[in-house]
Parts: sequence; structure tokens; C-alpha cells
Amino acid sequence: MKDEILDLVFKDPLPTIAEIEAKYPPRQLPEGAIVTRVGPSPTGLLHIGTLNAALIPYSLARACGGVFFLRIEDTDQKRQVAEATDVILKAFKDYDICPDEGPQADGTQKGAYGPYIQSQRKDIYQAYAKELLRQDKAYLCFCSEESLAQAHETQVKAKIRPGYYGPFARCRTLSEDAVLQNLKDGKPFIVRFKSPGHYTQKIIIHDLVRGKRELPQNDLDVPILKSDGLPTYHFAHLIDDHLMGTTHVMRGEEWLSSLPLHLQMFEAMGWQAPNYIHFSHILKLDEQTGNKRKISKRYDPEACVNFYDEQGYPKTAVIEYLLTLANSNFEDWRRANPDASYKEFKLSIQKLNSSGALFDLAKLNSICREHIGKMTAEEIYDATWAWAKTYRPDFATKLEQNKAYMIDILNIERLGAKKVRKDLIKWSDVETETAFFFDDSFQPADPYAALAPMPAETVKAIVTDFAALYDAQDDKDTWFAKIKQVAEKNGFCADMKAYKANPTAFKGSVADVAKVLRVFITGKEQSPDLHAVMRVLGQQATLKRLSV
Ligand code: GLU
Repeated sequence: MKDEILDLVFKDPLPTIAEIEAKYPPRQLPEGAIVTRVGPSPTGLLHIGTLNAALIPYSLARACGGVFFLRIEDTDQKRQVAEATDVILKAFKDYDICPDEGPQADGTQKGAYGPYIQSQRKDIYQAYAKELLRQDKAYLCFCSEESLAQAHETQVKAKIRPGYYGPFARCRTLSEDAVLQNLKDGKPFIVRFKSPGHYTQKIIIHDLVRGKRELPQNDLDVPILKSDGLPTYHFAHLIDDHLMGTTHVMRGEEWLSSLPLHLQMFEAMGWQAPNYIHFSHILKLDEQTGNKRKISKRYDPEACVNFYDEQGYPKTAVIEYLLTLANSNFEDWRRANPDASYKEFKLSIQKLNSSGALFDLAKLNSICREHIGKMTAEEIYDATWAWAKTYRPDFATKLEQNKAYMIDILNIERLGAKKVRKDLIKWSDVETETAFFFDDSFQPADPYAALAPMPAETVKAIVTDFAALYDAQDDKDTWFAKIKQVAEKNGFCADMKAYKANPTAFKGSVADVAKVLRVFITGKEQSPDLHAVMRVLGQQATLKRLSV
């Protein structure tokens, strides 16, 4: 292409290809180490799939002593959301995903292969686009959006494969004089890649997880620079992954169908293509249609990472859940290594799931229960307080004012107990599950309604008799002996076996008596160990709740 045209297209001076390449020398890596990355577009709320798309390359790079970097893909200026990069950085920090290179929270960038924000790399993309134009591997397209839409409609109506290719690629054959004239007339333009492919011929693509596939060659002349001079994703990832020395491109499966194009572009540039891995989407069963669909920020609150933050899901448990979705052997490893950090698990490319996993909140919840079940009361207190500071400031204050009491509460059936409590899934549960320990948040049930059909006089007698005997200093056996005593006095059977053998001979069993006390003390029919609950509440508060 004539220099005159290139000078009109790129008015500002650009670095030469040699200058650029000199700034990105090949990386020196240990044997077997990979270089991989995540390239989120800053669009606001972070999708759980993006967290996953960071966790997997991060874990794989860590497992082999490789490099994992963060690149902010902000070339779609229409979709930019201010502060969205901060959202990404904060989430990575919170979830302990630590890129070796990339933008930092203080506005600086770490690493020798930057800048790691695509909008700051405009001159690099333009320099390569100029080179492709010079070599006639790209061309200027002056088609308006309307004329493209019209062409598309015509193709669809005529049942022809839609797109800008072959005879439909109208600007591909424009003479240089016509191009020059258009530029002089100030017509807006974009730059398109001149595809050397033939749709009727095949290309073999190789995804490290999905294996080999034969697909039609790409013959679309896709845009590589938009009218604002910024690159499209196809072009930007090509340039960046080449210069930044990426050995393994890991990205969502929505890009799999573009792989023939990307391989073709690498070839056109004369570069070796990296390895590719396409992650499966996290799926959701659509209640209306009964079909599986990609979990979506628009419809599913759990698709957004801030859902887990707001609810107070333990971040480590969320990561563990994502690892169970990612690698089929994670759960076996976890069972064999119950106390190890998930960071010790060696994620492997071979074991990455190649089909979409269904999001299962119940599974996540059970991982959270196990996770919290292994924490000390102090650790739970600290984590809950840190969460409440942001999401429930009033509760944070309550925690601060009642620290010792709260830790006593959380210690009920905790570490070392025969049966450890598994009632907490997330930090917000601490507030609801401990509410009955505080007079200001205790919600007494209507005990007589809750205990019906037990007659009110019987209920009252049980409560009064027990209150007369209660001593917060009693050990569990003494405490239980007193409940049995109250049971017998009121016509209930103190021995469960004897009761089961002849239930009609009694008003009920010792379990029914305990239930009466539980309803009065906690306002609920189920609670942690009642002896411990009363002991933590203390003599005075216990008796107050038992006054009828
Ligand atoms: N910005 C692209 C996306 O969000 C990144 C894909 C890639 O990692 O190459 O889908």
C-alpha cells in the first residue's frame, strides 16, 4: 500500500516493529514453566466466570513455577465503566489471586512486559496494523454500519452465510486511488484483516483440554482496528500474547469458534501461536425452559462475585468450590488432605473439565459448612467482624461490644466437640444464628402455640420446675439429671428406651421436656447444645426466659 495512504491513516508517529520487538525480549523460564494470563474487560460487576478464568491460569502457573499476569482489556470504549479496574483488582486481592505482573491498586504497573492496560498500547496495535496494511494483509474499509446491516439482511433473506467475505467484502477490491480519495474526503473507515482462508477448506485446531477438531477455515475479513483507532479483541490479544510471551491462552469457550481466525492471524504475522485452552461456562438450569444456560449477570444474582461478598461467603470456600468445578480430582484430593490449604493442590491441565458444570448452591453451601466447621471461634469472630464492617455496620458494633460473649457463643459445639456445629454457611448467618443470645434480637416464639397440643399448664409446670432447679454451674450430667427429674415429676418418661417401648403410658418423653425448655430459651425448636446455650446465656438471663 502506498506510503501516502499510510501517512493519512496514521498521522502521529508510531514506533517501528523493530523498536517494539526489542522491548519484549523472549522470557527466560525454568523448564516446563508456562506463561499465562487473564484478560478481563472492565465492565463493572465481576462475573464469577471471570474469577474462575483467573483462578485456573493462576493455579496452573503456580503449580509449575510459571508466570501469571493480568491484562486489562479495555478497548471497547463503549462498555467502559469507571472504577471497574479497581473492582477487578479488589476481587483478586480478596480472593487471593496474585498476578505476577499487571496493574496494581496504587495505579502503578508491575512487570517488564507492559503496559498491561490495552488502551495504553494503542500505538503498538497501530504499528502492527500499519505493517499489515503495508504488506497488503489488511485493508481499509469504508462501509457504513447501515450498509453492513443491509448486506447482512440481504444475505439472511437469500439464505447465504452472513458476513464480510469473498464477494461481500466490497472494500477489499477498492483501488488505491479510490482509497486515497475516500481518505481525502474524510470518510470514516476501519481496518480489516485480509483473510487468506477458504471456507470450503479445513483447519485443525487443537485445544489442550478439548483435543483436536477440524473446522472450516476462516474467510471473514474481520475488523482489526475500529474507527476510533483502537483494536478489536481478535487483534489485541494476538499482539499482546505474542509480545508478552504467553505460552498458554486460557479463556472462555465463547472464543473457541474464533480460533481458526486467530491461528490464521498468527500465521499471517509470521508468529508461532500459543497453546489454547477454552474453559467451559458455569451453567444454570433455566427454571422457565428447563434447559441449561450460561449463568448470567442479568438473571442470576450468584453470577456476580459481589453476591458472595455481600452474603459473607468465606472466600476460601468459594475458591474451593470453583476448584471442584475445574478439576475432577480436587474433591478426592480434599478428602485425602482435609487440613491442607487448597493452594497445595496441583491443578492440572489434563484434568480440567471439558464440559460445562452446573452451578450448585447446595454444594457450595456444604463446602462452606465444612470450611467454617474447621475454624476456631476467634477466627470466625474476626472474619465475621471484617465482613460486618462493610455490610452490617450495626452488627459490627455489636460484635465489638460483646467480643468475649460472642466468642463463648461461637465456641458452643466448636473445635474438639464430639459433633462440631455445621450450621454456619456464611458470615451473615452468624448474626441470625446468634440473635437469640441477645435480648434486643431475641424473637420469642409464642411458646404455647409452638408446643401445642401440649396443655399450657403442663408447659408452665415444666418451665417452673426446671427454673427452680437450674444452676448455671451444673455440668452437663447434673443438668440433664435435673431435666429427667422434671420429666418424671410431670408424667413424662425420663428414659427414651422405656418410652419407645410403651409411649402411651406417658405424657411424652424427656426429649419433649427439653423441647419445652429450648423453645422458651431460644425461641426455636432446634438449637445448638441446650446445656451449653444456657451456660453461655448465664444464670440470670436463663431464668428470665424461664419466668412464666
Ligand atoms: N477480554 C476477553 C474476555 O473478557 C478476554 C479473553 C481472553 O482471555 O483472551 O472474554
